[in-house]
Amino acid sequence: MNSRPALRPLDDALAALLAQAQPLAGTEVVATFDADGRVLAEDLVSSLQVPPQDNSSMDGYAVRRAEIADEGVPLPVSQRIPAGAAPQPLQSGSIARIFTGAPVPAGADAIVMQEDTQALDDGRVRILRMPEAGQWIRRSGEDITRGSTVLACGERLTPAAQGLAASIGREHLQVARRPRVALFSTGDELVMPGQVAPEAMKPGAIYNSNRFFLRSLLLRLGCEVRDLGIVPDQREATVQALRDASRDNDLILTSGGVSVGEEDHIKPAVQQLGSLDLWQIAMKPGKPFAYGKVADAHFIGLPGNPVSSFVTFLLLVRPFLLKLQGATQLTPVAVQLPANFAWPRPDKRREFLRARRDAQGRLALFPNQSSGVLTSTVWADGLIDVPAGHTIAPGDPVRFLPLAELLA
Ligand code: AMP
Ligand code: MG
Repeated sequence: MNSRPALRPLDDALAALLAQAQPLAGTEVVATFDADGRVLAEDLVSSLQVPPQDNSSMDGYAVRRAEIADEGVPLPVSQRIPAGAAPQPLQSGSIARIFTGAPVPAGADAIVMQEDTQALDDGRVRILRMPEAGQWIRRSGEDITRGSTVLACGERLTPAAQGLAASIGREHLQVARRPRVALFSTGDELVMPGQVAPEAMKPGAIYNSNRFFLRSLLLRLGCEVRDLGIVPDQREATVQALRDASRDNDLILTSGGVSVGEEDHIKPAVQQLGSLDLWQIAMKPGKPFAYGKVADAHFIGLPGNPVSSFVTFLLLVRPFLLKLQGATQLTPVAVQLPANFAWPRPDKRREFLRARRDAQGRLALFPNQSSGVLTSTVWADGLIDVPAGHTIAPGDPVRFLPLAELLA
């Protein structure tokens, strides 16, 4: 009897995949300017306070509150402190002109904003409103205290993190090296845009769309991509492509050809050169997914259907590549949002529906959830995670994975 293998829960598949993803040996030093998206390979400890001194957050006057007898009494201005200047201690009985970002002079205990003052022709200034203690003063170390860890090893750098690293004086950063990924698509039906014009496409031919999003997804994850193009549906060609790809790459990523039809050559070809497990994952879109090794390279075979390829990349390959780089946060933070639709038919597999938030924070569903409809992935701003066997009624809270996080 030909029994179907049990489907593997997605969480099991992810755990099995991550168990294979040992962080790559080797780090590199990059300019902080160029570190966006890279994974930090050191703890960043600050050797200084940020801000370095108490400073003014307003254009105005530095004052000693005890010396302002009454609102409106004119006071002399004893010094002018622009940003970048080193002030003298505040002379008793006077105030100091000060600008945003300039250090607060010793002895001053508040800043009065310019709008609450009146400058007189004789150079003196009236304080029109009594300041609160410490008003408009940004304290030394209020952002970062000396000795504190501002970014931890394993954090993925963002533009804000680049700014933070720069704020403690770091010109260079130690990051994980880029994973080297060989990418190819399988399928005799595939044609590259530019190779054949839309009007001239032969019956049965389709454009290779997976290659485009997979390449960009890999680049966004900090990978170096070796794009090997399209490999025909032949055993020998597949073996040859895999052999080439295994040289000097950390991962070989393919799409298509991982089902068990006669035209699916990935499985026997990888098995000829190394080892391969074909998983039937209990997810939709998705299901066929392959993990193996070819020489020292990891091998991951994604399904060919574009949406399946896209979603399995985000939910399985993305965490795998982040772990290779030593990242600590591998999966996005899901949020609970109310559905604005009904999903009445339960499925045996866990589903990832393409959905979009409306202005009220409710989720609308793309009408066609077929695994070939790439339009759904562009329309959507996230995936709804529907557990196997579940239905959804309007208003039900559902688990939403924002694409903004998955694509970062
Ligand atoms: P396969 O997994 O090779 O059986 O392919 C499943 C479906 O995905 C078929 O309809 C293929 O034509 C389609 N497909 C496979 N690879 C690609 C690709 N790179 N771009 C667009 N569609 C693809
Ligand atoms: Mg195919």
